[in-house]
Amino acid sequence: MANKKDQAFYIKEFASNECLCGKPKKRGFSFCYKCYMALPHDLKRGVYQQLGFGYEEAFDEACEYLQSEVW
Ligand SMILES: [Zn+2]
Repeated sequence: MANKKDQAFYIKEFASNECLCGKPKKRGFSFCYKCYMALPHDLKRGVYQQLGFGYEEAFDEACEYLQSEVW
């Protein structure tokens, strides 16, 4: 990922109730159900890591995947 986002971005995304695809999602989840289910197994696991412990990288990877495959 070229531009590194700050941690506030991930916290905001995590706590929001709108997925990056524009659909509603639950607070405390990275993506809505549809986006989450579209992720490959290792990326699904990745977004359950803690912030600062690999979550950011996993989230970015998941976004890239969704952007090219789903969105
Ligand atoms: Zn979504």
